[in-house]
Amino acid sequence: MRLVLVGAGHAHLHLLNQAGTLRTAGLDVTLVAPAAFHYSGLASGVLSGALPSAAARIDVAALAAAHQVKHRQTTVEAVNRSARTVRLAEGADLPFDLVSFNVGSTVEDPMALVGALDVWPVKPLSRLFDLQARLEAMLRCEGPAPRVVVAGGGQTGFEIAAAIAGLCARHGRQADVTIVSRSSPHWGPAAALASLRRHLETRGIGVLAGEVVAREAGRCGLTDGRSLPCDVLVLAGGLVAPPLISGLGLPTDEAGRLRVTPALHAPDDPAVFAAGDCAVIDSAPRPPVGVFGVRAAPVLAANLMARARGAALRAYEPQRRWLSIMDLGDGTGLALRGELWWRGRAALWLKRRLDLGFVAAARSLRPGA
Ligand SMILES: Cc1cc2nc3c(=O)[nH]c(=O)nc-3n(C[C@H](O)[C@H](O)[C@H](O)COP(=O)(O)OP(=O)(O)OC[C@H]3O[C@@H](n4cnc5c(N)ncnc54)[C@H](O)[C@@H]3O)c2cc1C
Repeated sequence: MRLVLVGAGHAHLHLLNQAGTLRTAGLDVTLVAPAAFHYSGLASGVLSGALPSAAARIDVAALAAAHQVKHRQTTVEAVNRSARTVRLAEGADLPFDLVSFNVGSTVEDPMALVGALDVWPVKPLSRLFDLQARLEAMLRCEGPAPRVVVAGGGQTGFEIAAAIAGLCARHGRQADVTIVSRSSPHWGPAAALASLRRHLETRGIGVLAGEVVAREAGRCGLTDGRSLPCDVLVLAGGLVAPPLISGLGLPTDEAGRLRVTPALHAPDDPAVFAAGDCAVIDSAPRPPVGVFGVRAAPVLAANLMARARGAALRAYEPQRRWLSIMDLGDGTGLALRGELWWRGRAALWLKRRLDLGFVAAARSLRPGA
């Protein structure tokens, strides 16, 4: 049975490690994904200048070769479910009997701002690394630090703002960063958010209620007609599934994520599986966070093999609470788990340990390891 894995996200990296077992179950595996994967847990560390971009990079091509998995180093542009083929970016069609999507998410951009001068979406992460180079070039010039507006008051928006302030500090400059948030931030305990805002204020980061809808030279416009001075606009609004997913012609949620059963396949097409940011389990919806792709992976592997053998599938139950640690770009972190939180150097130490550990483990994958 031909299995096509689309995207080398967290779950499919695990499947690469299981390639031998998948083959034994009768699956002929082909991976379609770019040659490199960038790990988001280290992205803000790269942006702040604390880590080199290589620290966050996993060589997918090398892993696929080590596990003897056929790897098409490209992207899937479209899927023809009735013909059971995926269309590759270069135009070729690849047939499948089973297909699994782990393609992550993109940034919501309803006003089509991406493409305008110095507008930077936080996904794909490679753009964030380009942004780091751009800001460094600006910071090397004489004059005040660039005025940065971060559109999006979620955890990602705050972390990106803190990382940019960290980069400015590395260059001996005071940051000028404004986070523009559609609604009052409520993604963590109120006391944690208040403490974070006080801390960020001392580092030149303000928070403004509003919504960025326009980009002009040196400014950006808000819905209520106000306009802010802005040299660099970072889009860190809601994460939504790539259009490839809605193009499947299967039910999706409001963020364009494929609705899947707890067994991780589309209810209306048992040959289509998905995990990570691009999927949602109706009975247990969760936000787009890396841990869910990681934890879904063993169930995804088991169920793809079960499908090949005609056996019963297992259910994946995403956890209700999870640890998330923000890198605040100044050697400290903010750790959150449900109503619990702490801020300080120990939080960042733990984050680095976990994230560098993930990357090291992924890089050292050996067949059957
Ligand atoms: C700045 C930032 C920081 C974050 N920090 C954290 C954090 O610290 N911890 C955390 O848990 N979450 C974090 N997140 C969220 C995290 O990035 C996502 O939840 C996570 O990456 C989703 O994992 P995934 O496996 O679904 O997909 P991804 O990790 O996004 O991987 C998807 C892969 O699919 C590939 N792909 C995409 N489209 C195609 C296509 N059409 N064809 C082939 N391949 C394709 C991509 O190149 C990519 O390599 C952060 C997000 C951002 C933006």
